Amino acid sequence: MSTARLNLYDLTREELRDRVVRWGFPAVHAATLWNALYLGLADSFSAEAMPEVPPKVRARLEAEAMLGVLPTALETDSSDGFTRKYLLTLADGAKIETVLMRFTGRVTACISSQVGCAMGCVFCATGQMGYTRHLTPGEIVAQAVHVARALRVAAPPAGAEGGEFHVLREKPEERRLRNVVLMGMGEPLHNYDAVMHAVEILRDASGLALAGERITVSTVGVVPGILRLAAEKRPVHLAVSLHAATQAERAALVPAARKWPLEELMAACRSYSEQTGRRIFYEWTLIEGKNDSPAHARQVGELLRGLPAQVNLIPLNPTTGYDGAPTRSDAAKAFQRVLGDEFGIPSTVRQRRGIDIAAGCGQLATTAAEEQKV
Ligand code: SAH
Ligand code: SF4
Repeated sequence: MSTARLNLYDLTREELRDRVVRWGFPAVHAATLWNALYLGLADSFSAEAMPEVPPKVRARLEAEAMLGVLPTALETDSSDGFTRKYLLTLADGAKIETVLMRFTGRVTACISSQVGCAMGCVFCATGQMGYTRHLTPGEIVAQAVHVARALRVAAPPAGAEGGEFHVLREKPEERRLRNVVLMGMGEPLHNYDAVMHAVEILRDASGLALAGERITVSTVGVVPGILRLAAEKRPVHLAVSLHAATQAERAALVPAARKWPLEELMAACRSYSEQTGRRIFYEWTLIEGKNDSPAHARQVGELLRGLPAQVNLIPLNPTTGYDGAPTRSDAAKAFQRVLGDEFGIPSTVRQRRGIDIAAGCGQLATTAAEEQKV
């Protein structure tokens, strides 16, 4: 079984060196191999893909290891060319989503941490599909490598005049992946160890070299995970999905709130910011008539008073399993004004770009599964 093989993307640089040395090769070959993986972005063990790695090392890799490259099952561009979404296939056939986003000149990979999700948020396509399994560190790393590779070879889609990939070719500095958000499918703090192991690999200065402050872990509010992040001083940014500012309203949208009540969550957030000195991003999915009034904004302001915070407002992406509608942009602006003018809290409204490619979390996987059923 391929899953029993050693996936090279599972290994930190030190672990790779240990393995290569244990195989009886000089450590210098481990460095060459590491460079082929993360600087060369090799997609196989072939001589063409890793010209610097000696044939005897490649033969050993062929025999005992695997390169966990994730084949693309489906690839879609939003009509404005700013979002490219990949449905990637894992070794066991499960599918996950990875998204390449280019907003305001920044390239960001949005990557998944689990197949499905156990947290059951009512408006979320991933929550609606339920939990299947955790991703391995290598499966998390492979998604970032996939996007880095896509940026490097980016060419305009057939027939396209301009758009994202045209711009990319003109701006070489945008061909490097610099930002990663764990906001794809799954709850990263439910898969804490694998996610943190992957983060170490992504941060390696001799590899993809992502800066810790450019890696954001988004959580539904797994309190023990937040406290552990703080205690371990993990060099990542934290985003907490709030969506409601009272326990009753939150529990109706986010079932996980019954396990980790709002009061405990806010205490954990306060402790996190005190211990790390870091600001937290608070995410708020804006649902028309549900959590988008100026009164709601005032509740958020009160809840976050005195905390280093930024609020990210995300107008709802409609999903088949939930009949809410997205907040209109004037109401979103009014919400922002209350936060800013009355409480001095900075906020952003995430543009609903790429709605035409079902850009919400988990929506591409759901659509693909439904198409397969037909
Ligand atoms: N499980 C983590 C990270 C993945 S979800 C979390 O919940 O934070 C990333 C963000 O997308 C979360 O803030 C989530 O609430 C939001 N989201 C999920 N489905 C959405 C939808 N249909 N419309 C708008 N935002 C959604
Ligand atoms: Fe899971 Fe996040 Fe979706 Fe909630 S919003 S179901 S935590 S992926």
